[in-house]
Amino acid sequence: MNPIDYLRISLIDRCNFRCQYCMPEGADLDYVLQQNLLTRDELMLLVQEVFIPVGFTRFRLTGGEPLVRPDVVEIVRSIASLPETQDLAMTTNAFLLADLAQELYDAGLRRINISLDSLKPEVFDQITGNRGRSRWQQVWNGIQTAYRVGFNPLKLNVVVIPGVNDDEVLDLAALSLDREWHIRFIEFMPIGNDGLFQDRGWINSETLRQQIQEKWGLTEGQVRGNGPADVFQIPGAKGTLGFISQMSECFCDRCNRMRLSADGWLRPCLLNETGQIDLRTALRSGIPLYELRQQVRELLMLKPDINYKDRNSGTTGRYARTMSQIGG
Ligand code: SAM
Ligand code: SF4
Repeated sequence: MNPIDYLRISLIDRCNFRCQYCMPEGADLDYVLQQNLLTRDELMLLVQEVFIPVGFTRFRLTGGEPLVRPDVVEIVRSIASLPETQDLAMTTNAFLLADLAQELYDAGLRRINISLDSLKPEVFDQITGNRGRSRWQQVWNGIQTAYRVGFNPLKLNVVVIPGVNDDEVLDLAALSLDREWHIRFIEFMPIGNDGLFQDRGWINSETLRQQIQEKWGLTEGQVRGNGPADVFQIPGAKGTLGFISQMSECFCDRCNRMRLSADGWLRPCLLNETGQIDLRTALRSGIPLYELRQQVRELLMLKPDINYKDRNSGTTGRYARTMSQIGG
């Protein structure tokens, strides 16, 4: 069994984008009230006194959009400076990255994943729900700045939606040819906007991989990371291609992660609400830290039985929380 040592921490459930597949315009989302967000001190207390002692050493900061949290650089600095931290990464939409990339790097962040679903500004704006000035260029500037600053590996996440951006798979894959960029195709999941999923369906990784293979050929590749991507490389390319097939493949037996939501719920499985612990309420009610450690240890023991089983439990057939709320 894999050690469970990787924690994805959602810093905030809010976002400056409205991606169609995640938190579409008009969706009725209950945002966490400011007073219910874990403060930086609470988060650091949990990381140092609960998560690290029970064995977590690798962390990813996500959201919502982590860069809209005003103290994001301080949080990066605090976690990166802990001697036990073996890996710290972030997932972002990069809209605010051009201004923050150097500060984040100086604070100790080295790995970054950026969502980029299209190279066409009008399609990008359609997907990300922008109805005003196009935001594609600013995101592209953020990616270029992160590359210049030295983030390595720099990964680009692409969710492929049939009839929207599936005609760009080869163009997006080609970004890996002469830059050390790692393009990851993520299967679209019915979480966040199941209406869009029902209308459009989804494309499996194998179909995308074959399309790319026919054009250039593919060999097995390697890139540093903690996730379930199957990694390939176009022969001679500087970067790699990853395929994350959570719809077509079950990788629960390899799952090494838990998720902490911005309001302090510790969740053992993305697709399953079973077993969650409300660490914020426990912390604020003064439960001793050794008891919290014990609760988390017990959840770690239960995780193999929780993974993927009884999906949607506690919901009405829909996933009760979106990726932005869980911390995707
Ligand atoms: N805002 C940041 C971003 O977009 O990169 C971080 C949070 S976002 C929830 C993390 C990842 O989840 C993104 O790469 C996004 O594309 C992915 N995601 C969100 N909803 C999804 C869905 N329904 N199916 C597959 N991936 C999804
Ligand atoms: Fe925001 Fe990321 Fe969700 Fe898009 S995928 S709405 S950028 S949290």
